[in-house]
Amino acid sequence: MKLSRRHFAATLAAAPVAVAQQAPPAPPADAQRRGTAPEVPPFQEPLTFTRGDVAPKVRPFPMTQVRLLAGPFQDAAEWNRGYMSRLPVDRLVRNFKVNAGLPTSAQPFGGWEQPNNGEKLHRASELRGHFTGHFLSASAQLYASAGDQAAKSKGDEIVDELAKCQKKLTGGYLSAFPSEFFDRLDARQEVWAPFYTVHKIMAGMFDMYQLTGNKQALDVLQGMAGWADQWTASKSEEHMQDILNTEYGGMNEILYNLAASTNDDRWAKAGDRYTKKRFFNPLASRRDELRGLHVNTHIPQVIGAARRYELSGDYRFHDVADYFWYEVVGARSYVTTGTSNGEGWLAQPRQLAAELKRAVSTEECCCSYNMLKLTRHLYQWTADPRYFDYYERSLLNMRLGTIHPHTGQTQYYLSLTPGAWKTFNTEFDSFWCCTGTGVEEYSKLNDSIYWHDPDGVYVNLFIASELNWAEKGLRLKQETKFPEAPSTMITITADKPVQTAIRLRIPEWISGGSVKINGKLVDALASPGSYISLSRTWRSGDRIEMSMPMSLRAESMPDDHHQQAFLYGPLVLAGDLGSDGLTEAMTIGPNVPPVRKAPQLDIPTFHASGRELSSWITPADGPLSFRTSGQARDVALSPINSIFGKRYSVYWQVS
Ligand SMILES: [Zn+2]
Repeated sequence: MKLSRRHFAATLAAAPVAVAQQAPPAPPADAQRRGTAPEVPPFQEPLTFTRGDVAPKVRPFPMTQVRLLAGPFQDAAEWNRGYMSRLPVDRLVRNFKVNAGLPTSAQPFGGWEQPNNGEKLHRASELRGHFTGHFLSASAQLYASAGDQAAKSKGDEIVDELAKCQKKLTGGYLSAFPSEFFDRLDARQEVWAPFYTVHKIMAGMFDMYQLTGNKQALDVLQGMAGWADQWTASKSEEHMQDILNTEYGGMNEILYNLAASTNDDRWAKAGDRYTKKRFFNPLASRRDELRGLHVNTHIPQVIGAARRYELSGDYRFHDVADYFWYEVVGARSYVTTGTSNGEGWLAQPRQLAAELKRAVSTEECCCSYNMLKLTRHLYQWTADPRYFDYYERSLLNMRLGTIHPHTGQTQYYLSLTPGAWKTFNTEFDSFWCCTGTGVEEYSKLNDSIYWHDPDGVYVNLFIASELNWAEKGLRLKQETKFPEAPSTMITITADKPVQTAIRLRIPEWISGGSVKINGKLVDALASPGSYISLSRTWRSGDRIEMSMPMSLRAESMPDDHHQQAFLYGPLVLAGDLGSDGLTEAMTIGPNVPPVRKAPQLDIPTFHASGRELSSWITPADGPLSFRTSGQARDVALSPINSIFGKRYSVYWQVS
């Protein structure tokens, strides 16, 4: 097989790719993606829910059928598992028990789990309890992804403790803070985000039910959903729309999920009350009015829209999710795929250089977690492999590199300010939003590698892993050192010969490459950003090898072509600016690097006019390592996911 950008038009017939969509991260050029304000906003009328499931084009294999093998993803999973195992149950449920008036002698956590302890200096967090919800989801996922019985037992224990709290609190409402917070929400008085927190607990219960079969978790969830249904039903639509100005996580999504799983439309109708119309109307009309919005308040709402479309076929919700994704990925994401600055979208679309100057706190990690979640929905509708170009780039740059090796602590922001460094949560006194989505992310890294449709399997990610396709009596073992080595090998085990298609994603960044079956070159043409479909009768011992050569390239800011970042294949490179002046206190604990407290750095600039990148950025010692040459000050470059304890820069001024 020859793979070349010049052969882009000659895609394999098997590649199920529509032509209207551009590969990320290029902005959408298609005029259809530019909307105008319609006379009647799409979401003007009250919503009525009618169930009508949209059949997905492709489905992911359940995590129980995929196991990670040794490699960087398994390492990250293990570091996270270690962190989770160090968090005791009695401390995780402590604030819930206090709130329910049940006895506990457990030490409270700090940070966003800090309770009211009577000291003015330690202001109570109004989000307390949120992390326990994330922890339940992560525990359920550890069980599904690795068969981790200890994680399931711990999750079961938490569910049981929280069920007791719910019973004591009259059977519906369940939280680590009093329901008085909801009175304040109703009265439009100051309160942080009570529904955001309740959503995490509901989602945790849902995952414990779905992924581990815990029926008590479903009972607790239905009690909570009943409470939320009653609470929202008592508000006028106008008042409810006002209430939705306060962050509410994915309340719509969890209620749609519950409706789907119990076949009870009551929950979907409750979910519809969390449709923030002033946010959805411009999106459904394909207009970007995202400037000024808090990013991670809104991504979960769009995931809810995606789920609403899947359950009802209502295309307005499809358009909300579809347009939002293209706009965020194409016009509001940095080279790493990270989005947000100071947690918001501060500038107009495609003004990222201007946006980057506004704050050090770029790229909130939970935004990446949620964008990956949204991407899975869109891929499911289309089977377009280019969603996985984005997915892979995000996994490699925003996820693999934002978990601390060995300790499993994770980042809040991945700063792109030149001279920044990575900072991580403390063990017991942070519990940021991103700590919560962090434990979830790294407990399901085997998810979405393999998908299937009636005709066969899709291999979307190059991660050492094993797929057990029990229904077909087929096993695929993927062995790879990717991204350190640009190749992968899949070995088949089959109970008896199986006729099916195995489609390999041909990444958009590939330069050249080949596919071999049992050592023999496959004579076919496939273009980057498509699939090569290998359809035949597979037998035990059959072997597929794919080489995926990477090359260096630059990507510039859309609003400043002299501001450039360098990539090697899907890997974003960062320049090593040393570690002078960095202390542990500057690295563990702060949610954003205190750049002004560190020694001032001169960030090198580069001259490269008219020359090939490879003429002045050349391989250095060590895997995936590079070095500039011939510059006033040369810099060592390596993947951002491998830089820890160092100051770095990703974007450079290149003249
Ligand atoms: Zn966050």
